[in-house]
Amino acid sequence: MNNRSHQSPLQLGETAWREIDLSAIASNYRAIRAAIGPNTKIIACLKQDAYGCGAEEVACLLSAAGVDAFGVVSIADALAVRKAAPRKPILMYPGIGPDAIELVRELDLTISISGEEDLRGWLSTGVPLKIFVKVDLGFWRAGVAPSGLRRLIDLCTSQANIVVEGLYAHLSEFGQAGASAQEQVARLTPLLEGLEATGQRPAKVMVSSSESLLRHPEFDMDAVDPGALLFGLTGACAGRRALPIRPALSAIKARIVALKTSDHSMGAPPDLPGYHGAMRLAVLGIGWGHGVPRHPGAEAAVLVRGRRAPVIPPVHLEHLRADVTDIPEAELGDEAILLGAAGAERITLQDLASAWDTDETGAACGLRENLQRIHLGE
Ligand SMILES: *Cc1c(COP(=O)(O)O)cnc(C)c1O
Repeated sequence: MNNRSHQSPLQLGETAWREIDLSAIASNYRAIRAAIGPNTKIIACLKQDAYGCGAEEVACLLSAAGVDAFGVVSIADALAVRKAAPRKPILMYPGIGPDAIELVRELDLTISISGEEDLRGWLSTGVPLKIFVKVDLGFWRAGVAPSGLRRLIDLCTSQANIVVEGLYAHLSEFGQAGASAQEQVARLTPLLEGLEATGQRPAKVMVSSSESLLRHPEFDMDAVDPGALLFGLTGACAGRRALPIRPALSAIKARIVALKTSDHSMGAPPDLPGYHGAMRLAVLGIGWGHGVPRHPGAEAAVLVRGRRAPVIPPVHLEHLRADVTDIPEAELGDEAILLGAAGAERITLQDLASAWDTDETGAACGLRENLQRIHLGE
């Protein structure tokens, strides 16, 4: 999707870009694989353009690393993954409907079925389908309720046109819900035993994504479908498994596109926090149009020449101002760092997320497609 990603931002005249460390993704993948052992499949969740890292590049990398399959939501991501991985299975999470049947056939996609109405819609296309049945164990989102699972599986297995490859759930792992993960999975256990007894247990049963991979090794089952964990977006989430996970989003940088010292010939100064008569402003070529929040927290800063320059709110559509009064050596064209290290200073993804009043996933996935990606490593 991002075919310019191998050129340098300078060549492209870009004023802002992010750096994606592909070796971190490969290493996170290997850490997950080592932790779960060889008998559990990994369906890499690459939704949201691989959490902002570029679905095509990431699919190419993970495919070479031996991943078993991919999971996505959008057709755009399915197209990118299929281009990079011509033969790997791709599971579509709930979202697309039977009007996408041509693409489902062409791209050889496996679809999710969340209920009888859903199933009838797909059956009406008359096209043979590979499906995963999705059950809702307590997320209150997509998926058939546990009470309807048996009937839905009976319906699916009675259709000549349908192959039921798997059965999965996405656990509710937000906030306190993590504590009830055991309860959620316990809703599935007797149903699985019932399906087993009639020989209808699908070959791939899967309930575990990033958080439960870390907290509940006992939920590995036939397959797992981590997303955030592959990209090192799990932050401080500690669990029973301590994995050496690194963030894939390693830097966000922007050039200084204007520099000026406060000057009253421009009129009275606007209401700039921290304003003083000798204030020196650096204007960076990045703004909320790239996904930076309009009103970052007071701790928001960028690194210029290895030193911290406070961000002056509000952030504009294309521009962000920083106070470089104390960095007199700052020059037009300098690279400023919103995320990453320079000299002894470092702004981590956690620092950035906290200044942006979100978490690591929020910061990484909130960046817009127009913020150029530079892929490093591997
Ligand atoms: C997002 C998503 C995942 C991956 O979740 P993470 O917490 O990022 O690991 C897995 N399965 C489904 C259905 C999802 O929507």
